[in-house]
Amino acid sequence: MDVAIVGAGIVGLTTARAIASRRPDLRIALLEKEATVARHQTGSNSGVIHSGIYYKPGSLKAQLTVRGKAELEQFCADHGVPYERCGKVIVATRPEELPQLDMLAKRAADNGVPAERIGVERLRELEPHAAGLGALHVTSTGIVDYPVLCDWLADELEAADHEIRLHTAVTGIAEEDGQVVVATEGDYVTAKVLINCAGLHSDRMANLTPSSRTDIRIMPFRGEYYSLVPARRNLVNNLIYPVPDSRFPFLGVHFTRMVKGGVEAGPNAVPALAREGYRWGDIDRRDLAEILTARSSHILARNYWRTGLGEIHRSLSKRAFVTALQALVPDVRSEDLIRTGAGVRAQAIGPDGALLDDFAFAETARQIHVVNAPSPAATASFAIGRVIADKALERLG
Ligand SMILES: Cc1cc2nc3c(=O)[nH]c(=O)nc-3n(C[C@H](O)[C@H](O)[C@H](O)COP(=O)(O)OP(=O)(O)OC[C@H]3O[C@@H](n4cnc5c(N)ncnc54)[C@H](O)[C@@H]3O)c2cc1C
Repeated sequence: MDVAIVGAGIVGLTTARAIASRRPDLRIALLEKEATVARHQTGSNSGVIHSGIYYKPGSLKAQLTVRGKAELEQFCADHGVPYERCGKVIVATRPEELPQLDMLAKRAADNGVPAERIGVERLRELEPHAAGLGALHVTSTGIVDYPVLCDWLADELEAADHEIRLHTAVTGIAEEDGQVVVATEGDYVTAKVLINCAGLHSDRMANLTPSSRTDIRIMPFRGEYYSLVPARRNLVNNLIYPVPDSRFPFLGVHFTRMVKGGVEAGPNAVPALAREGYRWGDIDRRDLAEILTARSSHILARNYWRTGLGEIHRSLSKRAFVTALQALVPDVRSEDLIRTGAGVRAQAIGPDGALLDDFAFAETARQIHVVNAPSPAATASFAIGRVIADKALERLG
């Protein structure tokens, strides 16, 4: 093999696509432990094509989201993948949030994202059931079904004779004689370059060889969803978001119309007790021991305990979850919502307990590890794939 990629989520798939489109002669294998592509973060996200307004100007997130979004939409248009540019409103529900809306409007302008500050009347026209003192209307935000998109990416790669090996968990990595040997359960693959797009397990993959060891750790944050019952979907036209807490990388519970139909409410952000901990009952002893003993987790807990407790309360109490949603749409009632699924975010934290804000990579002579690709990495994936392809092709000469 020329390139082995661990993980067939959207970042692994778009990376393979970016390499294959520039060097069709190279042989690429994607190694995926699950039975299908897009099983974890990609398969349980909110389905939003983010505009790129939230992120620090000049950051990778700001640049790659705007670029990746354009390419993702083009791919959808070319392949008939359903997507919509439906727009969203970010709503200030308290007077002290109005200056934050203005700051977000400025940030949108800095990032080259069209966004309009609107008053209550226009908000009522766009979202008649939303309550607010003012809002930001972001017209370029869209919705898509990421797993459907990933199926297209996988089909395209297989049609070009690249391999997607499902049920193939990577268990070891070693560099030998100018090659990378990638051990899987009962087999191995050799490649000139290894790319780690393992999402929730990316730090562990990086730590398999001494040269790529990282002090960044993945902290799993679960996001739980409710769904509006069909009779009450008229409460929401498109996407209704709160003004986010700028100290926290998550956007706050919101309403999202899904491209396949239905309206989801959520996700919250609670610490998960396993990297693939989709429910409170999912506990992995090794994952939990790491979370409880790491110094970085202690610092994180100390810094965010108040927010964390609020999120846990909203997770355990439907009433608290509904109260948060009622700030945005006062007419929503508990009986309008049914609990649906959850996703787990792979959020990297540094040794100092700080939540890593930007996308991040760790690299050696033959390995490229994606160590932080949280939201909006699905939106940005086509551009992230290009960045990684540049790094890989540089190594391949
Ligand atoms: C609740 C939630 C909501 C979100 N909403 C949005 C949104 O609306 N818009 C947006 O742009 N982003 C959103 N995101 C973020 C986005 O989904 C992720 O940033 C993106 O999917 C990351 O893709 P990935 O390929 O890096 O990871 P993943 O999709 O998690 O893929 C990693 C893959 O690696 C595989 N793997 C792991 N370990 C191994 C191993 N040892 N061997 C083989 N395979 C392995 C896994 O099985 C998995 O398939 C959301 C995320 C969550 C969790």
